[in-house]
Amino acid sequence: MNEYDSDFVSQYLINMGYMPIEDPAEADIILINTCTVREKAEHKAYSLMGRISSLKKKRPWIKIGVMGCIAQQEAENLMERFPGLDLVIGPRDIYEFDEIIQRVLEGEKIVSTKLDIIPRIPALRDDFFKGKVKAFISIMQGCNNFCSYCIVPYVRGREVSRPPHEIINEAKFLVSHGIKDITLLGQNVNSYLFNDNGKIIRFSDLIKLLAEIDGLLRLRFTTSHPKDLSDDLIDCFYTLNKLCSHIHLPFQAGSNRILKRMNRNYTREHYMELVRKLREARPDIAITSDVMVGFPGETEEDFQDTLDLIEKVRFDSVFSFKYSDRKGTKASMMPDKINEQEKLKRLKTLQELQKRITLDINKRYEGRIVEVLCEGRSKRGDLWTGRNSQNKIVNFRSDKDELPGNMVKVKILKGYANSLFGEKYYVR
Ligand code: SF4
Repeated sequence: MNEYDSDFVSQYLINMGYMPIEDPAEADIILINTCTVREKAEHKAYSLMGRISSLKKKRPWIKIGVMGCIAQQEAENLMERFPGLDLVIGPRDIYEFDEIIQRVLEGEKIVSTKLDIIPRIPALRDDFFKGKVKAFISIMQGCNNFCSYCIVPYVRGREVSRPPHEIINEAKFLVSHGIKDITLLGQNVNSYLFNDNGKIIRFSDLIKLLAEIDGLLRLRFTTSHPKDLSDDLIDCFYTLNKLCSHIHLPFQAGSNRILKRMNRNYTREHYMELVRKLREARPDIAITSDVMVGFPGETEEDFQDTLDLIEKVRFDSVFSFKYSDRKGTKASMMPDKINEQEKLKRLKTLQELQKRITLDINKRYEGRIVEVLCEGRSKRGDLWTGRNSQNKIVNFRSDKDELPGNMVKVKILKGYANSLFGEKYYVR
């Protein structure tokens, strides 16, 4: 989501005649996009704000802004803490970025953190997607769920879905500029809902409309909430070839007691049933997830339930985190906090288990032929790289130059913890 927001403001700035550069010390405008979902990301953002603000001592004319969730949450406090800032702009306010940045360039210092602005189509630029094969489209903003540990509903506001025709036009624009793989973004895409002059468009309807776009090869979406993953969406995995064999479905905890305290509104049994249905619809589907350890009151038994769920589902990968208090959330006021040492111990145990499962799953690809959407040269430079339908990175060798955007058949020779390696496969 933050990457999409960064691209959103970048396109406005490029339209105004600015160009992206690598070194912030030479920039005229610097915008720091921030995240406050986890403690670590927040610390990193504050330290960057300190370093960037000091650049003003040497170049007092530059404009410095902070955007994203910390901007929304801290607003004026940020201006007080970092007097070098010229702009503090919340995630919804970027839809008025063109007007706001103009005022900043004229010398105003602005804090803009309204939460009722309707999302708007980005200032799409012809040259922005040159050489890229993948892009994101934000289909909605905000969240209505109020999971007890989460800050998002407070900093991104309530759910608002964008009109389907806007999303389709954006997708068509991207495809006409070389994009082949689109990921639909939202805090909880499963609850996308738009009343189009009396016709109700659900998320599954939107996906079907997008799948009709000629030239679009792959469709993905993130993030899904298990309580809203409906049968009509699961049916799309039966019927739509363009819908990739991957779903990110955060489970957060394997203990029903903790799920209740988290206000997640599903049980582990419901989650397991969703996994069963998804695998029935698409046997080769990759399932990835988010999980948290050390939620207030989490006992050893609760933690064992989480490990048990991981063993049973066999996720392709999980993003795992230690619980940290987020200011203003219900969980931050709960008693029975777990100490740091215990949280770390649980995190390590969980990550070791998941690492074994991921490696085992990736090794099972050895000998199989997969379709890879080529993205260009690999980081090392001597291989080509891309992703398969399951969103796994595939590095491969080929005896000829591969064009980014081409679909390549690759025989997998080796499965690693974070990627697959193979060679181009020729059908005889
Ligand atoms: S659904 Fe996701 S974004 Fe919304 S409150 Fe829960 S964790 Fe946060």
